[in-house]
Amino acid sequence: MSAVLSGKSSKILPVIAIRDGLVYPKTEAPLIFGRPKTVKAFEEAVKSDKELIILLQKVSKVDDPKGSDLHKIGVVVTIERFVSLEQGELQVLLRGSRKVRVTQFLTDDPFLRAAYEEVPDIEVDNDDIRATMKHLFTQMKKGINLGKNIDFIALMGLFSDLSPNDFSYQVAAVLDVKPEIKQELLDEENVQKRLESEIEHMAREITVLELEKKISKKTQQKFEKGMRENVLREKMKEIESELGEDKEGEEMSEYRRKIKQAIMPKHIEEKALKELDRMEKMSQYNPEASYVRTYLDWLVALPWSKKNESPVVIVEAEKILDQDHFGLKKIKERIIEYLSVMKLRELKQKKDGEITDGKKRDIKPPTILCFVGPPGVGKTSLGRSIARALNREFSKISLGGIRDEAEIRGHRRTYVGAMPGRIIQAMKTAGTKNPVFMLDEIDKIGRDFRGDPSSALLEALDPEQNHSFSDHYLEVEFDLSDVLFITTANILDTIPPALLDRLEVIHFPGYTQDEKFSIAKNYLIPKQMEAHGIDTYGLTFEDDAAQVIIRRYSREAGVRELERQIAAVCRKIARMIAEQKEDIKDLPQRKVITENDVAKFLGPYKYSEQLAEKKDEAGMSTGLAWTQAGGEILFIEVSVVPGKGHLILTGQLGDVMKESCQAALTYVRSRWKKLGLKEKFYEKIDIHIHVPEGAVPKDGPSAGLAITTALISALTKVPVRRDVAMTGEVTLRGRALEIGGVKEKVIAAHRAGIKTVILPKDNRKDLVELPKKTTDDLKFMFVEHMDEVVNVALTKKLHL
Ligand code: ADP
Repeated sequence: MSAVLSGKSSKILPVIAIRDGLVYPKTEAPLIFGRPKTVKAFEEAVKSDKELIILLQKVSKVDDPKGSDLHKIGVVVTIERFVSLEQGELQVLLRGSRKVRVTQFLTDDPFLRAAYEEVPDIEVDNDDIRATMKHLFTQMKKGINLGKNIDFIALMGLFSDLSPNDFSYQVAAVLDVKPEIKQELLDEENVQKRLESEIEHMAREITVLELEKKISKKTQQKFEKGMRENVLREKMKEIESELGEDKEGEEMSEYRRKIKQAIMPKHIEEKALKELDRMEKMSQYNPEASYVRTYLDWLVALPWSKKNESPVVIVEAEKILDQDHFGLKKIKERIIEYLSVMKLRELKQKKDGEITDGKKRDIKPPTILCFVGPPGVGKTSLGRSIARALNREFSKISLGGIRDEAEIRGHRRTYVGAMPGRIIQAMKTAGTKNPVFMLDEIDKIGRDFRGDPSSALLEALDPEQNHSFSDHYLEVEFDLSDVLFITTANILDTIPPALLDRLEVIHFPGYTQDEKFSIAKNYLIPKQMEAHGIDTYGLTFEDDAAQVIIRRYSREAGVRELERQIAAVCRKIARMIAEQKEDIKDLPQRKVITENDVAKFLGPYKYSEQLAEKKDEAGMSTGLAWTQAGGEILFIEVSVVPGKGHLILTGQLGDVMKESCQAALTYVRSRWKKLGLKEKFYEKIDIHIHVPEGAVPKDGPSAGLAITTALISALTKVPVRRDVAMTGEVTLRGRALEIGGVKEKVIAAHRAGIKTVILPKDNRKDLVELPKKTTDDLKFMFVEHMDEVVNVALTKKLHL
């Protein structure tokens, strides 16, 4: 078969597809072949008369190109020489013979073959062409002078006396252009046009070469300037030392003194002195010297041995905690217990220490405190109080959003602009080695490819390891074992389990309206008045003024927004007093800030009337939710419209909540008779369940009771009592199951003016720790079954 194929008369030849180069007629090119089909086509050609067609691929990325992937105009080449390389590759030297056009691709297996016809170049030779050739030739020489890379054989080709077509192909072969342009040049039949196009491309290439040259010259100049400056600086240094102005020497002895004063552990002091030695030997202007200086500054600034020594007096500590914070009785008790244990252990250690000759023993409290609760409930400020009670420094770092281990542990010194991690930074700010150290928002630590920050935290918190905490930047270990760590979080779910294991969790459930009132009156208002410089005018807030801020200008579990609003009022008063405004003139005489004043200062109410003041409605129930910001009430709306039995769920419900909706429908269907519905009532209607505030994702099973109630109400058209709120999971058979977050939810219900709260029976135990005022104001109903809920929550009895 090969004889027929390779015969010249048949005009059929094996084809080799090329990704990004071309071989032009009368030019030579070395190529490497590796693709199996190419190698086979090549072997075929070698067996016969060594001719092949070279065609350029339209898209270079295609690995196994078919005929349609190739340009039609190509070049017949002869194989001059070849060498087999490793892994079946071939290095070949090809020589272009003539331009051809493929008329048909014949087969693709085992390699591509094509029938072709020749496309002879028409030779024209006149003055115009000769002038164009000359211009192009001059350009080529200019390019070579500017550093254009051309291999020797091609260069020799350019200098020999060639016909216009051959010359144009020689140039095309060495132009630095994209494959499409290479093909365009081959496609071009008119030699004059081909030469002109090459002039254009060459001109562009020359511009680029000139630019490159300019840039490299500038770089060279800059480098020389840098060298010159260095030499001058060195000279200046010598002159300074001749004149006796030895600033460097002074600096060194200053560092030596600081290192001594820092009282570091022996081996760390040695390391510091070694670094100092290194710096001394460097030129002052060596950039490295400034890195070493920064490093030494860090070493001498850290509290290696400075401590606040004063024994804890538990009664005093208790007093301080009470001074700073209203309520939080259980929490304060827990903290005092914790401090007592710490004190006893310390005493024991001292005694043991005397006996065992000062040998270091474990004196750390067994676990680390973790304050969990919504924002603004006093977690941070209680941490500060603890520091005050212990007479220690307070230091805080926020871990929210940290994903990189280096944020905790620092970057290695080899990084430009490296710094120690946040723990070491905070220790420097604290200035003593035994501060109260608050790690805020440990539930918000992320992790990604840059390492796991929580593992670095674990090392810092673990009493077994934290006496030698390692920071990448410091390189030497730092002793954190005297630090009293307190962590805070909004929720427990996202805290890495290994970390949670070490923590002793203390819950802050949020405040009731009355607690907020006491906090505002006794703490926040005096604090803000003082902060705004109006405490000396003898002004007071009327109780109603404080109440209106609590009820109409803030709605939250904590008191942060409340404090902000009080601050806003104080700011306005301060300004009015300063400006001696007409309409406030009587305020200094009045001495009281009324509800009206507050409304004037803060504008329209931010939060609408209390829930209990609203109307009862069919298809709308009140549920209780638990979020990172504490407890909240939440409305469930159900609408029934004519349709085909679809259940539509909206309001960004999570999967579990969607399932609750389906379970609710199944339960209602099973009770159709008792509810007075038709047997197949659902077939001709669509039921739409919506939980407003659609932008906030909601999930969890605890809305089951509320969803079912709203659904029954919508179908029976009997309104739900607005002052009843409920929470609890429901099974398909209507049993009410226990849920979490009861404390926060009940406080939220109370805040919203709910009168009756329905809870699953098994949650009765959770009411124990609630403030008495809340449990006194609310009526609780503990249910085992959905039927009991219906009887209480709807405005009309359905007798289920
Ligand atoms: P958290 O750290 O829980 O987000 P903060 O400690 O920042 O909250 O508290 C917010 C503000 O509320 C602080 O000014 C704090 O003093 C005040 N505060 C919170 N709880 C109480 C309380 N029980 N008594 C007095 N002030 C409180």
